[in-house]
Amino acid sequence: MKVTEHIEKAQGKTLFSFEILPPKKGDNLQSIFSNIDPLMEFDPPFIEVTYHREEYEYKETPEGYIQKIVTRKRPGTVGICAAIQHKYSIDAVPHVICGGFDKEETENLLIDLNFLGIDNVLVLRGDPIKSEGVFKPVPHGHSYANELTRQISDMNHGKYLHEEYADGATDFCIGVAGYPEKHFESPNMDTDLHYLKKKINAGANYIVTQLFYNNQKYFDFVKRCREIGITVPIIPGIKPISIKKHLTILPNIFHIDMPQELVLEVEKCKTNKEVYEVGIEWAVNQCKELMDHGVPVLHFYSMGRSENIRRIAEKLF
Ligand code: FAD
Repeated sequence: MKVTEHIEKAQGKTLFSFEILPPKKGDNLQSIFSNIDPLMEFDPPFIEVTYHREEYEYKETPEGYIQKIVTRKRPGTVGICAAIQHKYSIDAVPHVICGGFDKEETENLLIDLNFLGIDNVLVLRGDPIKSEGVFKPVPHGHSYANELTRQISDMNHGKYLHEEYADGATDFCIGVAGYPEKHFESPNMDTDLHYLKKKINAGANYIVTQLFYNNQKYFDFVKRCREIGITVPIIPGIKPISIKKHLTILPNIFHIDMPQELVLEVEKCKTNKEVYEVGIEWAVNQCKELMDHGVPVLHFYSMGRSENIRRIAEKLF
C-alpha cells in the first residue's frame, strides 16, 4: 500500500514509522531484523531503508600508476526491502538516489522494485562522496532529485527511457526530502522551497523532513510550503540524541541547529547514560507537541539502534 494511502486510512491519527540502515557488508539479515523486531508492537505501516553509495579510493600501484578502486560498504536495498515485506507484511520503502546511477540503471532498479511489489520509493539526490567534495552525477545520471522524480513519474505513466509501454506502467508513490532549516547548499530558504516545489510538480506525493530539534522550525516550514501551494503530507523526521558528541556531530553532518535549552541539558550530564535519557525526554516532548498539531506520521531515524526509539514510542503510541 502507498504511504499516502496509509495516511488517508489513519483518518488523522498519527502513525509511527522508522528508517533503518542496511548492515555493513559481511553482516546478514538478522542484524536488521533484530532492530526491527522491538519496534513492531507500534504497528509501523512502513519502514524506510536508506541507500549508501560506494566510495572511491585512489591507490598507487608499484609501477606508479594511480588506480581508482570502488569500495562498497553496505548491501543495496532491493533484497533488504523484499525480505522486510516478506517477513513482516508491511511496506518497505527503499531510498533511491541519483548519485552513482545512470538513468538506465535507475530504470532497471525500479523495474525490479515494481516486480517485487514495492509500492513506495523515497527519492534523493544523495550526498557528494567524500573523495569528490561536491555532488557529481555519473554520465547520463541525474543531477537533482526533481529529475529522478520525473523519471519515476514518467514510468508511472508507462513512459520508459526508450519506449512507451502503457501495459508496464508502474504505480510508485514517491516521497522526497524537505529541510525545515534549509538544505546546506541552498543560498536561502526561498530558493530551497522553490526546488522543493519542483519535486512536487515532477510527481512527488509526500515529503519527509530532515531531522530537527526545534518544532517551531517544522511548523514554519510547513506554513511556508502551504503558502507556495505544496499540499502533500509533510512527515517530520525525529532523531533522539544519545551521546554528548551529538551536540557537535549532528549540526556538522545535517546542518541543523540545536536549541540552547537542549544544549544546556546535555552539558549538565556527567555520563552518556544521562545524555541518552535527556535525548529520550526531549524527543517525547517534541513528538507530543507534533502529535497535538496533527502530524500524519512521526518518522524516526533509528540509525541502526532501536532501544531509545522503542522507549519513546512506548510513551506515545
Ligand atoms: P535535491 O532536492 O536535488 O536538492 C539538492 C540541492 O540542490 C538543494 O540545495 C536544492 O535547493 C538544490 N536544487 C534542487 N533542484 C535544483 C535544480 N533543478 N537546480 C538547481 N538547484 C537545485 N542520502 C543518501 O545518500 N542516502 C539516503 O538514503 C538518504 N536518505 C535521506 C532521507 C531524508 C529524509 C533526508 C532529508 C535526506 C537523506 N539523504 C540521503 C541525504 C540527501 O541525499 C542529501 O541531503 C542531499 O544533499 C540532498 O538530497 P535532496 O534529495 O534533498 O536533493
